[in-house]
Amino acid sequence: MNALTCLRSFSDPLLGQEARVRHHTLLALASLPTYLASLGMIWHLVHLDELAAPSAWGITLASIVTFLAFWLPVRTGLTQRMKDPVLTFPHALASLGLCIVAYMLLDEHRVNVLVLMAQVIVVAMLRLRPKQVLGLGMLATLMLCGAFAWVDWRDTSVGMLNKGATHLMVGGASLLLLSLVGKWVSDIRTEISEQAKELRKTVLTVRQMATMDQLTGLLNRRVMLETLEAERQLSERHGTQWCLALIDLDHFKQVNDRYGHPTGDAVLRGFADLARKHLRSVDQVGRWGGEEFLVMFPQTRLNEAHASLERLRKALNAWRLPDHPTLQMSFSAGLVQAAPEDSLDQLVERADKTMYQAKASGRNRSVWAPLLTPDLLGSPVPPPALPT
Ligand code: GH3
Ligand code: MG
Ligand code: MG
Repeated sequence: MNALTCLRSFSDPLLGQEARVRHHTLLALASLPTYLASLGMIWHLVHLDELAAPSAWGITLASIVTFLAFWLPVRTGLTQRMKDPVLTFPHALASLGLCIVAYMLLDEHRVNVLVLMAQVIVVAMLRLRPKQVLGLGMLATLMLCGAFAWVDWRDTSVGMLNKGATHLMVGGASLLLLSLVGKWVSDIRTEISEQAKELRKTVLTVRQMATMDQLTGLLNRRVMLETLEAERQLSERHGTQWCLALIDLDHFKQVNDRYGHPTGDAVLRGFADLARKHLRSVDQVGRWGGEEFLVMFPQTRLNEAHASLERLRKALNAWRLPDHPTLQMSFSAGLVQAAPEDSLDQLVERADKTMYQAKASGRNRSVWAPLLTPDLLGSPVPPPALPT
């Protein structure tokens, strides 16, 4: 068992196995040092005879119950769907409540509690939103004032009032200042996380722009060439078969001329959608230029690739633009199988020549090289039915 497996076997029961739950459980554990510090202080005071054991037991039990009440739902994943799955705000509020109880019980040593309250706010500020941090600081100050009033009401000796007043001034001012600093930190955190979100979005857009053809969303020419070259090298190494088709939409210029460029664009987008829908997800389609597209069929025999192309061709024949239901489109495709000695240029050139054979023999068909058998040819079609 290596060190990592050993560490995992310890941490799994404590944090859970699912990555998000582990992360949140770990964050919820950030409050543990404050709990331990407060219990250490309480029991040290019992040891010094400065605090009665029943009070110490009361605080200890309340601390354990509070910690478990907030930590267990996070650890079991019950809070995963909540806005704050770590329960930071209610947990911090409950911890401050415990601190206030301790403040009221620890006569001489209550100043230590102010440090613990500050710790609670510091830990919470790293997760809370700016307004929540400010609210938490104000609530802490209010609670402190309440506790001070209670202590003052119980013991009206002048000495007590003086000490209490000092605690209140120092503690209240510190907590308020801390919550202001906390809000500022939280503001910066929010800004950074928004900037990071924006940056991720921009990177995604730039990556899409660099790899995709903007009109059709298919791979652009450069990336298609890289994809083809990668497949060529892979098949050279492993001796696998693969095929390449060059598709050219028939009489596309007439579509532009009769219906206008935007309709031509809509046809190109429509073809891209059909290609995405009717080809396998492993087949890669790229816009080669204008109304020409390349399709790569990895690890595919010629007859299988041909069947795919025919499926796509028939789908295009049946496809209609809602605004122009009489416009029928077709394509001519040249399909070739990559030979081990082919360079990419040679392969594309063969596909191009084969595509021109398809055009020459009547369009609306997929032709594979080198054979041109009659059963591979669809019925010759005239130019698309365009209204006069
Ligand atoms: P063929 O059947 O022989 O392929 O004829 P064709 O009209 O399809 O071919 P041609 O090469 O004569 O015309 C292609 C047209 O495609 C010309 C060009 O204006 C148009 N085109 C190229 N890119 C775009 C584009 O992005 N949008 C639109 N709407 N048209 C484009
Ligand atoms: Mg063309
Ligand atoms: Mg064309």
